[in-house]
Amino acid sequence: MNIHEYQAKEVLKGYGVRIQEGIVADSPEAAHEAAVKLNAQTGTSWYVIKAQIHAGGRGKGEIKETGSRGVVLAKKLEDVKEKAGAILGGTLVTIQTGAEGKKVNKVLVAEDVYYPGASEPKEYYMSILLDRATGSNVIMASTEGGMDIEEVAEKHPEKIIKEWIDPKVGLQGFQARKVAFKLGLSGTAHKEMVKFITALYNAYVGTDSSQFEINPVLKTSDDKILAVDAKVNLDDNALYRQPKLAELRDLAEEDPLEVEAGKSGLNYVKLDGNVGCMVNGAGLAMATMDMIKLSGGEPANFLDVGGGANATTVEAGFRIILQDPNVKAILINVFGGIVRCDRIANGVVEAYKSIGDIRVPIIVRLQGTNAEEGAKIIDESGLKVFSAITLKEAAERVKAALEK
Ligand code: GDP
Ligand code: MN
Repeated sequence: MNIHEYQAKEVLKGYGVRIQEGIVADSPEAAHEAAVKLNAQTGTSWYVIKAQIHAGGRGKGEIKETGSRGVVLAKKLEDVKEKAGAILGGTLVTIQTGAEGKKVNKVLVAEDVYYPGASEPKEYYMSILLDRATGSNVIMASTEGGMDIEEVAEKHPEKIIKEWIDPKVGLQGFQARKVAFKLGLSGTAHKEMVKFITALYNAYVGTDSSQFEINPVLKTSDDKILAVDAKVNLDDNALYRQPKLAELRDLAEEDPLEVEAGKSGLNYVKLDGNVGCMVNGAGLAMATMDMIKLSGGEPANFLDVGGGANATTVEAGFRIILQDPNVKAILINVFGGIVRCDRIANGVVEAYKSIGDIRVPIIVRLQGTNAEEGAKIIDESGLKVFSAITLKEAAERVKAALEK
Protein backbone atom coordinates (compact mmCIF):
# COMPACT_ATOMS: atom_id res chain seq x y z
CA MET A 1 0.00 0.00 0.00
CA ASN A 2 1.21 3.49 -0.87
CA ILE A 3 0.60 6.60 1.21
CA HIS A 4 0.91 10.31 0.40
CA GLU A 5 4.06 12.35 0.96
CA TYR A 6 2.44 14.37 3.76
CA GLN A 7 1.40 11.18 5.56
CA ALA A 8 4.78 9.54 5.05
CA LYS A 9 6.57 12.59 6.47
CA GLU A 10 4.38 12.51 9.62
CA VAL A 11 5.15 8.82 10.08
CA LEU A 12 8.90 9.39 9.62
CA LYS A 13 8.84 12.31 12.04
CA GLY A 14 7.33 10.00 14.65
CA TYR A 15 10.51 7.92 14.42
CA GLY A 16 12.77 10.94 14.83
CA VAL A 17 13.57 11.46 11.16
CA ARG A 18 14.08 15.16 10.40
CA ILE A 19 11.71 16.33 7.67
CA GLN A 20 10.90 19.45 5.67
CA GLU A 21 7.95 20.67 7.77
CA GLY A 22 4.59 21.26 6.12
CA ILE A 23 0.83 21.40 6.55
CA VAL A 24 -1.66 19.72 4.23
CA ALA A 25 -4.56 21.67 2.69
CA ASP A 26 -7.52 20.86 0.45
CA SER A 27 -8.54 24.35 -0.72
CA PRO A 28 -6.70 27.56 -1.73
CA GLU A 29 -7.97 29.26 1.46
CA ALA A 30 -6.77 26.38 3.63
CA ALA A 31 -3.41 26.59 1.85
CA HIS A 32 -3.12 30.26 2.78
CA GLU A 33 -3.97 29.48 6.41
CA ALA A 34 -1.46 26.62 6.39
CA ALA A 35 1.23 29.06 5.22
CA VAL A 36 0.38 31.51 8.02
CA LYS A 37 0.63 28.72 10.59
CA LEU A 38 3.84 27.38 9.09
CA ASN A 39 5.40 30.83 9.25
CA ALA A 40 4.57 31.00 12.95
CA GLN A 41 5.98 27.51 13.57
CA THR A 42 9.16 27.58 11.53
CA GLY A 43 9.81 31.21 10.66
CA THR A 44 9.88 30.40 6.96
CA SER A 45 8.83 33.20 4.60
CA TRP A 46 9.04 31.18 1.37
CA TYR A 47 6.59 28.35 0.80
CA VAL A 48 6.76 25.22 -1.35
CA ILE A 49 3.37 24.03 -2.59
CA LYS A 50 3.38 20.35 -3.45
CA ALA A 51 0.61 18.35 -5.17
CA GLN A 52 -0.24 15.21 -3.20
CA ILE A 53 -0.74 12.25 -5.54
CA HIS A 54 0.60 8.71 -5.43
CA ALA A 55 3.20 9.29 -8.12
CA GLY A 56 6.61 10.91 -8.38
CA GLY A 57 8.07 13.36 -10.86
CA ARG A 58 5.72 16.10 -9.64
CA GLY A 59 8.36 18.82 -9.76
CA LYS A 60 8.71 18.43 -13.52
CA GLY A 61 5.06 17.41 -14.03
CA GLU A 62 2.38 19.76 -15.29
CA ILE A 63 -1.25 20.46 -14.37
CA LYS A 64 -3.23 19.95 -17.60
CA GLU A 65 -5.78 22.67 -16.97
CA THR A 66 -3.50 25.49 -15.79
CA GLY A 67 0.04 24.66 -16.90
CA SER A 68 1.31 24.93 -13.31
CA ARG A 69 4.07 22.56 -12.18
CA GLY A 70 3.19 19.99 -9.51
CA VAL A 71 5.70 21.54 -7.07
CA VAL A 72 5.98 25.34 -6.99
CA LEU A 73 7.69 27.92 -4.82
CA ALA A 74 5.85 30.96 -3.44
CA LYS A 75 8.18 33.72 -2.28
CA LYS A 76 5.36 35.75 -0.78
CA LEU A 77 2.55 34.74 1.57
CA GLU A 78 0.08 36.58 -0.70
CA ASP A 79 0.96 34.26 -3.62
CA VAL A 80 0.18 30.99 -1.81
CA LYS A 81 -3.56 31.02 -2.37
CA GLU A 82 -3.37 31.58 -6.11
CA LYS A 83 -0.51 29.13 -6.67
CA ALA A 84 -2.28 26.43 -4.64
CA GLY A 85 -5.45 27.18 -6.61
CA ALA A 86 -3.63 26.44 -9.88
CA ILE A 87 -2.80 22.96 -8.59
CA LEU A 88 -5.82 21.90 -6.52
CA GLY A 89 -8.58 20.18 -8.46
CA GLY A 90 -6.35 19.94 -11.53
CA THR A 91 -4.99 16.89 -13.32
CA LEU A 92 -1.29 16.37 -12.82
CA VAL A 93 0.63 14.57 -15.54
CA THR A 94 4.10 13.29 -14.64
CA ILE A 95 6.37 10.63 -16.13
CA GLN A 96 4.86 8.23 -13.59
CA THR A 97 1.12 8.92 -14.06
CA GLY A 98 0.70 8.17 -17.75
CA ALA A 99 -0.88 10.65 -20.16
CA GLU A 100 -4.25 10.66 -18.40
CA GLY A 101 -2.66 12.06 -15.22
CA LYS A 102 -4.03 12.10 -11.67
CA LYS A 103 -6.50 14.42 -10.00
CA VAL A 104 -5.01 16.51 -7.20
CA ASN A 105 -7.23 16.74 -4.11
CA LYS A 106 -4.67 18.01 -1.62
CA VAL A 107 -1.50 20.08 -1.51
CA LEU A 108 1.25 20.11 1.08
CA VAL A 109 2.35 23.63 2.00
CA ALA A 110 5.95 23.17 3.10
CA GLU A 111 8.70 25.38 4.49
CA ASP A 112 11.49 26.39 2.11
CA VAL A 113 14.61 24.47 3.11
CA TYR A 114 16.92 25.56 0.28
CA TYR A 115 17.74 28.86 2.00
CA PRO A 116 21.23 30.38 1.50
CA GLY A 117 23.92 30.11 4.17
CA ALA A 118 27.47 29.03 4.94
CA SER A 119 27.43 26.28 2.27
CA GLU A 120 25.29 25.41 -0.77
CA PRO A 121 22.28 23.15 -0.09
CA LYS A 122 23.06 19.70 -1.52
CA GLU A 123 20.64 16.95 -2.57
CA TYR A 124 21.25 13.24 -1.94
CA TYR A 125 19.30 10.08 -2.73
CA MET A 126 18.42 7.38 -0.22
CA SER A 127 16.23 4.31 -0.25
CA ILE A 128 15.76 1.25 1.92
CA LEU A 129 14.29 -1.92 0.53
CA LEU A 130 14.15 -5.64 0.86
CA ASP A 131 16.75 -7.53 -1.17
CA ARG A 132 15.14 -10.88 -1.82
CA ALA A 133 18.32 -12.38 -3.30
CA THR A 134 20.24 -12.00 -0.04
CA GLY A 135 17.28 -12.10 2.35
CA SER A 136 18.38 -8.81 3.89
CA ASN A 137 17.50 -5.15 3.86
CA VAL A 138 19.61 -2.85 1.75
CA ILE A 139 20.24 0.87 2.06
CA MET A 140 20.98 2.54 -1.26
CA ALA A 141 22.39 6.03 -1.30
CA SER A 142 23.87 8.40 -3.82
CA THR A 143 25.32 11.88 -4.07
CA GLU A 144 23.21 12.29 -7.23
CA GLY A 145 20.03 13.30 -5.41
CA GLY A 146 16.96 14.82 -7.00
CA MET A 147 17.70 13.00 -10.26
CA ASP A 148 16.05 9.96 -11.76
CA ILE A 149 17.82 7.17 -9.89
CA GLU A 150 17.26 4.56 -12.64
CA GLU A 151 19.29 6.80 -14.94
CA VAL A 152 22.09 7.12 -12.38
CA ALA A 153 22.09 3.33 -11.89
CA GLU A 154 22.43 2.83 -15.63
CA LYS A 155 25.04 5.48 -16.48
CA HIS A 156 27.02 5.65 -13.24
CA PRO A 157 26.48 2.45 -11.26
CA GLU A 158 29.61 3.30 -9.23
CA LYS A 159 27.76 6.31 -7.81
CA ILE A 160 25.26 4.12 -5.99
CA ILE A 161 26.31 3.07 -2.52
CA LYS A 162 24.80 -0.13 -1.16
CA GLU A 163 24.88 -1.35 2.42
CA TRP A 164 23.22 -4.66 3.29
CA ILE A 165 21.69 -5.10 6.73
CA ASP A 166 21.01 -8.43 8.37
CA PRO A 167 17.42 -8.07 9.64
CA LYS A 168 18.19 -10.22 12.70
CA VAL A 169 21.13 -8.08 13.76
CA GLY A 170 19.73 -4.72 12.68
CA LEU A 171 21.58 -1.65 11.46
CA GLN A 172 24.99 -1.33 13.13
CA GLY A 173 26.50 2.05 13.94
CA PHE A 174 29.52 1.45 11.71
CA GLN A 175 27.24 0.80 8.74
CA ALA A 176 25.46 4.16 9.07
CA ARG A 177 28.87 5.88 9.47
CA LYS A 178 30.19 4.06 6.40
CA VAL A 179 27.29 5.30 4.23
CA ALA A 180 27.69 8.89 5.53
CA PHE A 181 31.43 8.70 4.83
CA LYS A 182 30.94 7.36 1.31
CA LEU A 183 28.55 10.26 0.64
CA GLY A 184 31.56 12.49 1.29
CA LEU A 185 30.28 14.01 4.53
CA SER A 186 32.33 15.11 7.51
CA GLY A 187 31.87 17.07 10.74
CA THR A 188 28.34 18.10 11.73
CA ALA A 189 26.80 16.97 8.44
CA HIS A 190 28.30 13.49 8.92
CA LYS A 191 26.87 13.19 12.44
CA GLU A 192 23.48 14.43 11.23
CA MET A 193 23.47 11.93 8.37
CA VAL A 194 24.25 9.05 10.76
CA LYS A 195 21.30 10.13 12.93
CA PHE A 196 19.12 10.44 9.84
CA ILE A 197 19.99 6.96 8.52
CA THR A 198 19.52 5.36 11.94
CA ALA A 199 16.08 6.92 12.46
CA LEU A 200 15.08 6.11 8.88
CA TYR A 201 16.02 2.47 9.31
CA ASN A 202 14.05 2.26 12.57
CA ALA A 203 11.02 3.72 10.76
CA TYR A 204 11.42 1.20 7.93
CA VAL A 205 11.43 -1.74 10.34
CA GLY A 206 8.82 -0.29 12.69
CA THR A 207 6.26 0.33 9.95
CA ASP A 208 6.74 -3.06 8.25
CA SER A 209 7.57 -1.28 5.02
CA SER A 210 8.79 -2.96 1.89
CA GLN A 211 10.31 0.19 0.42
CA PHE A 212 11.31 3.70 1.40
CA GLU A 213 12.56 6.22 -1.11
CA ILE A 214 13.72 9.64 0.03
CA ASN A 215 14.65 11.71 -3.01
CA PRO A 216 15.98 14.20 -2.25
CA VAL A 217 17.53 13.94 1.19
CA LEU A 218 18.82 17.47 1.71
CA LYS A 219 21.90 18.84 3.43
CA THR A 220 20.85 22.40 4.21
CA SER A 221 23.23 25.34 4.05
CA ASP A 222 23.62 25.03 7.84
CA ASP A 223 24.37 21.28 7.73
CA LYS A 224 21.02 19.84 8.75
CA ILE A 225 20.02 16.60 7.05
CA LEU A 226 16.32 16.22 6.25
CA ALA A 227 13.77 14.47 4.04
CA VAL A 228 12.36 16.82 1.38
CA ASP A 229 10.32 14.05 -0.26
CA ALA A 230 9.15 10.67 1.08
CA LYS A 231 7.82 7.68 -0.76
CA VAL A 232 6.72 4.94 1.64
CA ASN A 233 5.51 1.56 0.49
CA LEU A 234 3.87 -0.46 3.25
CA ASP A 235 3.80 -4.24 3.13
CA ASP A 236 0.13 -5.21 2.62
CA ASN A 237 0.69 -8.51 4.40
CA ALA A 238 1.62 -6.70 7.61
CA LEU A 239 -1.23 -4.16 7.60
CA TYR A 240 -3.27 -6.33 9.99
CA ARG A 241 -0.82 -5.41 12.73
CA GLN A 242 -0.47 -1.77 11.65
CA PRO A 243 -4.06 -0.52 12.10
CA LYS A 244 -2.98 3.15 12.38
CA LEU A 245 -1.10 2.96 9.09
CA ALA A 246 -3.90 1.02 7.40
CA GLU A 247 -6.15 4.04 8.04
CA LEU A 248 -3.91 6.17 5.82
CA ARG A 249 -5.16 4.37 2.73
CA ASP A 250 -6.55 6.75 0.08
CA LEU A 251 -9.01 4.85 -2.11
CA ALA A 252 -9.24 7.80 -4.54
CA GLU A 253 -5.67 6.94 -5.61
CA GLU A 254 -6.42 3.31 -6.45
CA ASP A 255 -7.97 1.61 -9.48
CA PRO A 256 -11.74 1.49 -8.73
CA LEU A 257 -12.08 -2.06 -10.07
CA GLU A 258 -9.23 -3.27 -7.87
CA VAL A 259 -10.88 -1.64 -4.85
CA GLU A 260 -14.21 -3.33 -5.66
CA ALA A 261 -12.47 -6.69 -6.13
CA GLY A 262 -10.73 -6.31 -2.78
CA LYS A 263 -14.10 -5.86 -1.07
CA SER A 264 -15.24 -9.22 -2.43
CA GLY A 265 -12.02 -10.90 -1.32
CA LEU A 266 -10.81 -11.24 -4.91
CA ASN A 267 -7.26 -10.76 -5.98
CA TYR A 268 -7.59 -8.65 -9.15
CA VAL A 269 -5.06 -6.78 -11.25
CA LYS A 270 -6.17 -5.03 -14.41
CA LEU A 271 -4.10 -5.64 -17.57
CA ASP A 272 -4.35 -4.36 -21.14
CA GLY A 273 -5.50 -7.44 -23.08
CA ASN A 274 -8.81 -8.74 -24.45
CA VAL A 275 -9.43 -12.05 -22.66
CA GLY A 276 -10.83 -11.76 -19.16
CA CYS A 277 -9.87 -14.63 -16.91
CA MET A 278 -11.20 -15.97 -13.65
CA VAL A 279 -9.10 -18.61 -11.97
CA ASN A 280 -8.70 -20.19 -8.55
CA GLY A 281 -5.13 -20.04 -7.29
CA ALA A 282 -2.33 -17.68 -8.30
CA GLY A 283 -0.21 -20.40 -9.92
CA LEU A 284 -3.07 -21.60 -12.08
CA ALA A 285 -3.82 -17.96 -12.95
CA MET A 286 -0.28 -17.51 -14.26
CA ALA A 287 -0.49 -20.74 -16.29
CA THR A 288 -3.87 -19.61 -17.67
CA MET A 289 -2.45 -16.28 -18.75
CA ASP A 290 0.34 -18.10 -20.59
CA MET A 291 -2.25 -20.25 -22.28
CA ILE A 292 -4.26 -17.23 -23.39
CA LYS A 293 -1.14 -15.82 -25.01
CA LEU A 294 -0.41 -19.12 -26.75
CA SER A 295 -3.90 -19.09 -28.22
CA GLY A 296 -3.30 -15.61 -29.69
CA GLY A 297 -5.03 -13.50 -27.04
CA GLU A 298 -3.77 -11.17 -24.34
CA PRO A 299 -5.01 -11.42 -20.76
CA ALA A 300 -7.26 -8.50 -19.75
CA ASN A 301 -6.63 -9.13 -16.09
CA PHE A 302 -5.24 -11.34 -13.40
CA LEU A 303 -8.06 -12.59 -11.18
CA ASP A 304 -7.62 -15.13 -8.44
CA VAL A 305 -10.95 -15.98 -6.80
CA GLY A 306 -9.20 -17.99 -4.11
CA GLY A 307 -9.65 -21.49 -2.81
CA GLY A 308 -13.18 -21.12 -1.46
CA ALA A 309 -14.83 -19.88 -4.66
CA ASN A 310 -18.65 -20.07 -4.72
CA ALA A 311 -21.54 -18.59 -6.70
CA THR A 312 -21.17 -15.21 -4.96
CA THR A 313 -17.47 -14.83 -5.67
CA VAL A 314 -17.96 -16.03 -9.24
CA GLU A 315 -20.67 -13.40 -9.75
CA ALA A 316 -18.53 -10.65 -8.23
CA GLY A 317 -15.65 -11.71 -10.50
CA PHE A 318 -17.91 -11.68 -13.56
CA ARG A 319 -19.22 -8.21 -12.81
CA ILE A 320 -15.71 -6.83 -12.42
CA ILE A 321 -14.39 -8.41 -15.61
CA LEU A 322 -17.43 -7.23 -17.59
CA GLN A 323 -16.79 -3.60 -16.65
CA ASP A 324 -13.66 -3.70 -18.78
CA PRO A 325 -14.71 -2.68 -22.34
CA ASN A 326 -11.68 -4.40 -23.90
CA VAL A 327 -12.85 -7.87 -22.91
CA LYS A 328 -13.82 -9.95 -25.97
CA ALA A 329 -14.03 -13.36 -24.26
CA ILE A 330 -13.94 -14.69 -20.73
CA LEU A 331 -12.11 -17.80 -19.70
CA ILE A 332 -12.99 -19.40 -16.40
CA ASN A 333 -10.41 -21.96 -15.37
CA VAL A 334 -11.16 -23.66 -12.07
CA PHE A 335 -9.54 -26.65 -10.49
CA GLY A 336 -11.97 -28.47 -8.24
CA GLY A 337 -10.01 -29.47 -5.20
CA ILE A 338 -11.72 -28.16 -2.11
CA VAL A 339 -14.45 -26.63 -4.27
CA ARG A 340 -16.52 -29.00 -6.42
CA CYS A 341 -16.85 -28.34 -10.17
CA ASP A 342 -20.63 -28.82 -10.23
CA ARG A 343 -21.02 -26.07 -7.64
CA ILE A 344 -18.84 -23.70 -9.68
CA ALA A 345 -20.84 -24.59 -12.80
CA ASN A 346 -24.06 -23.76 -10.98
CA GLY A 347 -22.46 -20.55 -9.76
CA VAL A 348 -21.53 -19.56 -13.31
CA VAL A 349 -25.03 -20.27 -14.60
CA GLU A 350 -26.64 -18.36 -11.71
CA ALA A 351 -24.29 -15.41 -12.08
CA TYR A 352 -24.91 -15.35 -15.83
CA LYS A 353 -28.67 -15.25 -15.34
CA SER A 354 -28.45 -12.67 -12.58
CA ILE A 355 -26.27 -10.30 -14.63
CA GLY A 356 -28.37 -10.82 -17.73
CA ASP A 357 -26.96 -9.06 -20.74
CA ILE A 358 -23.57 -10.73 -21.25
CA ARG A 359 -22.44 -10.31 -24.86
CA VAL A 360 -19.05 -11.97 -24.81
CA PRO A 361 -18.53 -15.70 -25.10
CA ILE A 362 -17.60 -17.49 -21.90
CA ILE A 363 -15.41 -20.54 -21.89
CA VAL A 364 -15.44 -22.58 -18.73
CA ARG A 365 -12.81 -25.14 -18.04
CA LEU A 366 -13.51 -27.24 -14.99
CA GLN A 367 -11.14 -29.96 -13.86
CA GLY A 368 -10.99 -32.07 -10.72
CA THR A 369 -13.80 -33.19 -8.41
CA ASN A 370 -17.10 -33.66 -10.31
CA ALA A 371 -15.67 -32.16 -13.53
CA GLU A 372 -17.99 -34.19 -15.78
CA GLU A 373 -21.09 -33.14 -13.83
CA GLY A 374 -19.93 -29.53 -14.04
CA ALA A 375 -19.48 -29.70 -17.82
CA LYS A 376 -22.94 -31.23 -18.15
CA ILE A 377 -24.57 -28.39 -16.19
CA ILE A 378 -22.87 -25.82 -18.43
CA ASP A 379 -23.75 -27.64 -21.66
CA GLU A 380 -27.39 -28.07 -20.68
CA SER A 381 -27.89 -24.52 -19.39
CA GLY A 382 -28.80 -23.18 -22.84
CA LEU A 383 -26.59 -20.13 -22.24
CA LYS A 384 -23.75 -18.88 -24.39
CA VAL A 385 -21.24 -20.71 -22.24
CA PHE A 386 -18.83 -23.26 -23.63
CA SER A 387 -17.38 -25.99 -21.49
CA ALA A 388 -13.95 -27.48 -21.89
CA ILE A 389 -12.24 -30.08 -19.80
CA THR A 390 -8.65 -29.99 -21.01
CA LEU A 391 -6.46 -26.90 -21.24
CA LYS A 392 -6.02 -27.55 -24.96
CA GLU A 393 -9.76 -27.50 -25.55
CA ALA A 394 -10.07 -24.30 -23.57
CA ALA A 395 -7.30 -22.66 -25.61
CA GLU A 396 -8.96 -23.66 -28.87
CA ARG A 397 -12.29 -22.27 -27.71
CA VAL A 398 -10.68 -18.95 -26.74
CA LYS A 399 -9.02 -18.79 -30.13
CA ALA A 400 -12.28 -19.50 -31.93
CA ALA A 401 -14.06 -16.85 -29.85
CA LEU A 402 -11.47 -14.21 -30.71
CA GLU A 403 -11.51 -15.03 -34.42
CA LYS A 404 -15.24 -14.36 -34.67
P1 GDP B 1 8.95 14.93 -6.99
O1 GDP B 1 9.29 15.78 -8.18
O2 GDP B 1 7.56 14.34 -7.11
O3 GDP B 1 9.97 13.90 -6.70
O4 GDP B 1 8.84 15.94 -5.72
P2 GDP B 1 9.97 16.41 -4.67
O5 GDP B 1 9.36 16.46 -3.34
O6 GDP B 1 11.20 15.59 -4.80
O7 GDP B 1 10.25 17.92 -5.12
C1 GDP B 1 10.70 18.23 -6.40
C2 GDP B 1 11.73 19.32 -6.35
O8 GDP B 1 11.20 20.50 -5.77
C3 GDP B 1 12.95 19.03 -5.49
O9 GDP B 1 13.88 18.20 -6.15
C4 GDP B 1 13.50 20.42 -5.26
O10 GDP B 1 14.34 20.78 -6.33
C5 GDP B 1 12.25 21.28 -5.25
N1 GDP B 1 12.00 21.66 -3.85
C6 GDP B 1 11.45 20.91 -2.89
N2 GDP B 1 11.43 21.56 -1.71
C7 GDP B 1 12.01 22.78 -1.94
C8 GDP B 1 12.29 23.91 -1.13
O11 GDP B 1 12.07 23.93 0.09
N3 GDP B 1 12.84 24.99 -1.74
C9 GDP B 1 13.14 25.01 -3.05
N4 GDP B 1 13.67 26.10 -3.58
N5 GDP B 1 12.90 23.95 -3.85
C10 GDP B 1 12.34 22.85 -3.32
MN1 MN C 1 11.22 13.44 -5.21
